[in-house]
Amino acid sequence: MSSQPHIVLPWTVRRTRLPLLFFRCVDCGCESATTGAGRFRVNANGKLLDVWLLVRCVSCNRTSKLTVHERVPVTGLDPGALRGYRCNDPDLVASTLLDPLFGRRNRFTLDWAGAWRLDCGSVWVDSGWPVRVEVTFDDPVPVRPDRLIAQGLGFSRGEVVRRVKSDVSLRHQRSSGFAFTVMAGE
Ligand SMILES: [Zn+2]
Repeated sequence: MSSQPHIVLPWTVRRTRLPLLFFRCVDCGCESATTGAGRFRVNANGKLLDVWLLVRCVSCNRTSKLTVHERVPVTGLDPGALRGYRCNDPDLVASTLLDPLFGRRNRFTLDWAGAWRLDCGSVWVDSGWPVRVEVTFDDPVPVRPDRLIAQGLGFSRGEVVRRVKSDVSLRHQRSSGFAFTVMAGE
């Protein structure tokens, strides 16, 4: 009996929209904010620039400015990025929001609930075990591997424990690629 998997399935975790922010509103105390469609504000003061990303309280609509750049020389910014800030480039909004340094600096974390999906790609052909699955992340969505696997395979948590082998800890949240092997059931 061979234990070499003969099937490798690619799974992909991808973002379906921008995540919300856990960010406390100073007016109403609500702890959820949104970037909406995504808007920057650029303010020039002499040769210095401030750049903010605007977010809105989901409860009372109060707008807050999150600092992207603070009093940087115009020449210190990449011209392409500056254009992106001025035209609210959606890719730049996403990469700014998802940048962990930006989150730490502005004291918010991301709320990924409902903002991502798991693509299991090809149809599952039940032609023998074991099966190898390689998971890649298009966006750094934090997931617990055991829950992701249970969802993707339609397994109970107990089945995941019994039948899934991996080099990574399945119970610790991660947001980067990993692989696992599914063994035959009884
Ligand atoms: Zn509010």
